Amino acid sequence: MKYKRILLKLSGEALAGDKGSGIDTPRLMQYSEEIKKVVEAGVQVAIVIGGGNIFRGAQGEASGIDRVQGDYMGMLATVINGMAIQSALEKMGLFTRLMSGIKMEQVCEPFIRRRAVRHLEKGRVVIFGAGIGNPYFTTDSTASLRAIEIEADVVLKGTRVDGVYTADPEKDATATRYSTISFEDVYSMGLNVMDMTAFTLCKENGLPIIVFDMNKPGNLYKLASGEEVGTLITMR
Ligand code: UDP
Repeated sequence: MKYKRILLKLSGEALAGDKGSGIDTPRLMQYSEEIKKVVEAGVQVAIVIGGGNIFRGAQGEASGIDRVQGDYMGMLATVINGMAIQSALEKMGLFTRLMSGIKMEQVCEPFIRRRAVRHLEKGRVVIFGAGIGNPYFTTDSTASLRAIEIEADVVLKGTRVDGVYTADPEKDATATRYSTISFEDVYSMGLNVMDMTAFTLCKENGLPIIVFDMNKPGNLYKLASGEEVGTLITMR
């Protein structure tokens, strides 16, 4: 396997499948199968899951919920998703730990970096819930920060789109996909990979990002074994 330790970022929306919101069981099972394959191949897997299928801070603002309050609601949503993934992975016989950026002892462990690394070394899948525990951040920033903290080899950002394109492929039919692109070029061309906070963290710490289509069966395994899938963003 090319990568020893990966951080997989999944959006909350992806978990909703075609339903648009909530958690879609077949999708949850599909993702868990994909994750199981790489764990069984000896890759250490950490997961950051979004909360967009349940609640987003910005969405609350529009309906009169205070921004900070809404952000905390969004963070709690990621814990719900994390619990769902944890349960699905355990059903498949994997060992897991859910670690939260906000203390909730009855539900999961608090995030402690050294413990997270130890879990990974023991082959447990570690799920980071509740974002980084602070409002005004996103789960993409959480993915970048946690990946750096646990010294992951790469951030794998699973999306609906299979990489970074010259323009939005859902709007522009002439858009083409990059197989590799530098952080610098993503910046200068204003391409949308992650929010700037998340992106800058990876750039400044030389942590590569791969954007890929998580819905295509086998993609995660291919990536982990070193096959070219999606778009790789690196220093040069
Ligand atoms: N959030 C936050 N701090 C964090 C992570 C998340 O405040 O460190 C909140 C924020 O309101 C965000 C919501 O949690 O909108 C859900 O996360 P996100 O939108 O990143 O989920 P995704 O788009 O990946 O489903």
